[in-house]
Amino acid sequence: MRPVDRGSCPIDEGGVPKKFHPYTKAQKDIINRLGEYCSYCERPLSNVAIEHLLPKKWYPSCQEKWNNFLPTCLNCNTNKRWSMEKRWKFKEGESLPSEKTVLALYYWPDRDNTASIFKYGEGGIIEINLSLNPSQKLKAQITLDLTKLERYDGNDEDPPPVTDRRSQKRREAWNIAKQQLDDLNNKNITTKSVIQLAKAIGFWSVWMTVFQEDSEMLKLLIDAFPGTRKDCFDDLGHPVPLQENPPKPIENPSLRQESRYTIADVLPRSQEPSLLDWLEASGRLMSREDRESEYAIDEEEIAALMSVEDTTYDDDGDELVEED
Ligand SMILES: [Zn+2]
Repeated sequence: MRPVDRGSCPIDEGGVPKKFHPYTKAQKDIINRLGEYCSYCERPLSNVAIEHLLPKKWYPSCQEKWNNFLPTCLNCNTNKRWSMEKRWKFKEGESLPSEKTVLALYYWPDRDNTASIFKYGEGGIIEINLSLNPSQKLKAQITLDLTKLERYDGNDEDPPPVTDRRSQKRREAWNIAKQQLDDLNNKNITTKSVIQLAKAIGFWSVWMTVFQEDSEMLKLLIDAFPGTRKDCFDDLGHPVPLQENPPKPIENPSLRQESRYTIADVLPRSQEPSLLDWLEASGRLMSREDRESEYAIDEEEIAALMSVEDTTYDDDGDELVEED
């Protein structure tokens, strides 16, 4: 799954971040940033649907947020909605899981190095990357289940419905990419023509897999598809493993760093002693009785001072004048 960066919210002619009301107005900007490809199955799109990472029905405040948009095909969009509603059992009137909880369960093409989570094989079959650690494999499997990308023609146990032609198109792309690889090796075609065909056929991950021994082609493919995240790949164009792509360290030492790839624990309650205990233990807490006699003396002196004739400052100057 191609990792992408949609960038910050586009700016309008007045220099302020655009408002997407209704959200379908984001279609042109999303295409400009990420191209006309489904963010999950990677097929080319003739009619881009704006997909909401957090479902708009359950998180209406995210309905028009730029960082909640991705382009998708109808099959991926529909399967994701069904899958999420089945898993989370969203119900009217019940409290929803937090946005953070929902987002943390899956790998997302705009948030994670999704080039590392799956392996594409002969015929365009998608499997979990076996080099992931157990918790990453589980999360990758949940991500695969989200859009049902693992369904493929010829799988008797879980064949796709007739309306879902994603695996069929992926297999066709695989066969075309293999033929292009042979032709390129035989010098019958140029890298430029391969890239042009890859952009037309789509299925970026299929092309990246078929041409995985050719670093020049990998880098051309990364550049050719708009919005592909370059920091997810090494100098040879191979995906950086998930564990080697950690978040940047936080410079403020008083803050605690949590990995973005694991679900954070609930913050423990502080076990520090109370301020009162600390004052008492360190001898800084003094009883009220010891201080009262001192205050009494002070009050007498203050009373004596107060008996002096009233004086005030003149508003217009510094001279001390007597009131009438
Ligand atoms: Zn799709």
